[in-house]
Amino acid sequence: MNKLLIRQGTVVTTSGATQADVYVEGETIREIGPGLERKHRGDAPRIIDAQGCYVFPGGIDPHTHFDLPLKTTRTADDFATGSLAALHGGTTTVIDFANQAPGGTLATAIEQWHKLAEGRTACDYAFHVSVTDWNEKTRAEIHECIAKHGIPTFKTFMAYKGTYMIDDARMLEILREVKRAGGLALVHAENGDMIEFLVGELRAAGSLAAPKNHALSHPPIAEAEACGRIIDLARVAGCPLYVVHLSSEDALDRVRLAATHAEASDPPLYVETCIQYLTLDQSRYNLKGFEGARFVLSPPLRAKKDLRALWKGLSKNLIQTVATDHCSFRAEQRELGREDFTKIPNGLAGVEHRLELLYSEGVEGRKISLERFVELSSTAAAKLLGLYPRKGAIAVGSDADLVVFDPNQTHVISAKTHHMNVDYSNYEGWKVKGKVKTVVLRGTVAIEDGQARVAPGFGKYLRREALTR
Ligand SMILES: [Zn+2]
Repeated sequence: MNKLLIRQGTVVTTSGATQADVYVEGETIREIGPGLERKHRGDAPRIIDAQGCYVFPGGIDPHTHFDLPLKTTRTADDFATGSLAALHGGTTTVIDFANQAPGGTLATAIEQWHKLAEGRTACDYAFHVSVTDWNEKTRAEIHECIAKHGIPTFKTFMAYKGTYMIDDARMLEILREVKRAGGLALVHAENGDMIEFLVGELRAAGSLAAPKNHALSHPPIAEAEACGRIIDLARVAGCPLYVVHLSSEDALDRVRLAATHAEASDPPLYVETCIQYLTLDQSRYNLKGFEGARFVLSPPLRAKKDLRALWKGLSKNLIQTVATDHCSFRAEQRELGREDFTKIPNGLAGVEHRLELLYSEGVEGRKISLERFVELSSTAAAKLLGLYPRKGAIAVGSDADLVVFDPNQTHVISAKTHHMNVDYSNYEGWKVKGKVKTVVLRGTVAIEDGQARVAPGFGKYLRREALTR
């Protein structure tokens, strides 16, 4: 059996940091403590030296889109390149989205996404399912998703009018059914009507070129309104809610208001933000030529004051998780929207950089503690989304998903060295303090000295169960 010993690292969990060895047998952590090297000498385990390094639980990115088909194109990263990039950056588990096609079933979507991921994914993975079309068939399927497919997390959109958008009446139905099934509702909170209205005005004014119009037509108020509304709708339905990719101070204010006035009978409310909203701001839309298009995503990048508010939200636990919403497009794909900003494919590539940026900007930048870093990058997502304690923990019996992290090594992010299938980096030239050194996935060394030691297909699909009840 595979035996591994990580010696003399500083093991960090949400409750503290201690000097300890970690002993792994097969895919599982067996012992944590001092002096394990001597104790297990006879077992001749493979030794990984972690002196001077932190040992973190493998990162969990609760929001990625690999191999996502869009109208006229497809994301640049598929499950192979995306998952390998994730591993390089210390993320050992991703949760991707199986999207229901209009008129299609949830089961078909899940089957389709299994086909895309199976045999190609190098890290472990699970799926959320996106409900974009609500009918009596879908209602029954909510329960089947959990029982048959191991998917208890259901995403809906309040934006993308005419395609994915769910109106309030149907939203309440979905929320009620998800609550009945013991699931969690994930919501993209932007007011689709407001956005359509603003886009319409820009169109009428002949202002469709220029990426900055994307930000103008997706203002914080459209996010804040939808955020406040979905919190209220979830309350009425009694459904646990997880707001995905929250980006603005205005939207966070609605969360704070709800949290301040929450009653014991209210369903739980969780909030996710993404690493790009913590690090990049809207000045990128003013880059020369068409370069701003590389930063188009929804919600868009915000003002500097929003970045500060989000960091504060993390430290005050108004925000529980940091994801990437990884959805990558190459420069030539962005060209689709050169004449019309509404045709620029939406999304940023970041799955590889989430941990290092969160550590460098957050911990080294003295905005969050080391323990909070572990919580935000791994443990909270595992707990909220049904993977804990198999994932998200350095504990006896947990999967041996471990990151040996050197806090003293600095490096610079560049498209020349990253592993994502994108010909530019949204973080080009960004100086990062701290570097992922070794990554272990279920007891197997996955990344070592910047080299991948596992191949696409190594990753396992993770079934989950009902989250409440
Ligand atoms: Zn997304």
